Amino acid sequence: MEESMETVVIGGGAMGSATAWQLARRGRPVTVLERFTPGHANGASHGASRNFNTAYAEPTYVSMLAEALPLWRELEVETASRLLRQVGVVNHGPNPSFDRVAAALSQAGLGAEFLAPEAAAERWPGIRFDGRVLFAPDAGRVNADAAVTALQTAATAAGADVRHGIRVLRLEVQGDDRVRVTHETGTIIARRAVVTVGAWTSGLLAGVVPVPRLTVTQEQPAHFALRDASPAAAARAETEWPGFNHTPARSDLRYGYWYSPVYGMYTPGQGIKAGWHGVGPGTDPDARSFAPEPVQLAALARYVREWLPGADPDVPDPVSCTYTTTVDEDFVLDRVGPVIVGAGFSGHGFKFTPAVGRILADLATDAAAAPPLFALNRRPNAAAGGWLSRR
Ligand SMILES: Cc1cc2nc3c(=O)[nH]c(=O)nc-3n(C[C@H](O)[C@H](O)[C@H](O)COP(=O)(O)OP(=O)(O)OC[C@H]3O[C@@H](n4cnc5c(N)ncnc54)[C@H](O)[C@@H]3O)c2cc1C
Repeated sequence: MEESMETVVIGGGAMGSATAWQLARRGRPVTVLERFTPGHANGASHGASRNFNTAYAEPTYVSMLAEALPLWRELEVETASRLLRQVGVVNHGPNPSFDRVAAALSQAGLGAEFLAPEAAAERWPGIRFDGRVLFAPDAGRVNADAAVTALQTAATAAGADVRHGIRVLRLEVQGDDRVRVTHETGTIIARRAVVTVGAWTSGLLAGVVPVPRLTVTQEQPAHFALRDASPAAAARAETEWPGFNHTPARSDLRYGYWYSPVYGMYTPGQGIKAGWHGVGPGTDPDARSFAPEPVQLAALARYVREWLPGADPDVPDPVSCTYTTTVDEDFVLDRVGPVIVGAGFSGHGFKFTPAVGRILADLATDAAAAPPLFALNRRPNAAAGGWLSRR
């Protein structure tokens, strides 16, 4: 069967669902095609926790965070759900960017506080601190699963058509305002196609849109039980455990077994999540092992033993998830003719989700161009790294 429509969104993860929400609430007709069932764990948007860390220095990201915060709250009201808990995020370790980040946050009206490690340890005894601490009080934790569900619910309530279990096979550009989308059970002729397919981007857009090099890795953070297994401790952790980012100094042998900076947060009902960032094995999203790499996992448990006294390092519960990363770790948000691309969100995209949806919806309705930082044809600025760590 062939259908004709204004906008089709391909990929119903966080970014595609947010785009559909933004288009539908503007009264624009939109259909989402998602290949898997609701709540699937094959991509990058599943699980009950993501850091909403505000500690960035790059102005584009800081302004997107300032935009995303009230949008998360609007989504919560629209869906009567609780998505974002502002428990704060602590950033520590020998990182030269702290002062620049604190200045950028203050300029944007977002909180930034420096604490001595002793004062931080008193406040958060479950974490051992490594030098000066940059605390971001407006930061916190987002429930990823609940957020994707809320976005799709709100989009549907505003008129969007969200279809699961439909895999798109190819796109053919047939003019400035015409693209043919072939999926498993039919074809769609659309004025605009928004492609937010995460790890599958390079494959689906090959020969259609020149996307920059995207590296797909299988990442494996893990949950560690709270040392204090009492219900009271779990209740305290829900509101008191901050998200955390710990940056190593490459030259210091103490960090010799580290793979990358470490990030983490408390996940209700699952414990303390901790993970290396962007160092998982390269993977084909359709041929994944979903199995943790044991040496990395052992190193992560050692990290927990040394730096997270509030967590039990002995029984890690691994999570498997994909990163899709550009050379400079900045996103791709751009349009070529009738095709809009949202990709390369690596391990730091979730916090920005509603603002990314707004930018992609603007591109789909010719309302505005995307920030140059995210242009398809930009010169990668690997040295940039305008934010504290990749979370
Ligand atoms: C382990 C881990 C930890 C993270 N932690 C954080 C964090 O603390 N803070 C933060 O801000 N970010 C974090 N992130 C990053 C964040 O989760 C991602 O950037 C974000 O979820 C990307 O969303 P997406 O919609 O681009 O991708 P996805 O969720 O992968 O969505 C793509 C969708 O497209 C669908 N699809 C693919 N091909 C087709 C097709 N041919 N037809 C139809 N549908 C298709 C897929 O099924 C999938 O649902 C983390 C990511 C991981 C993996």
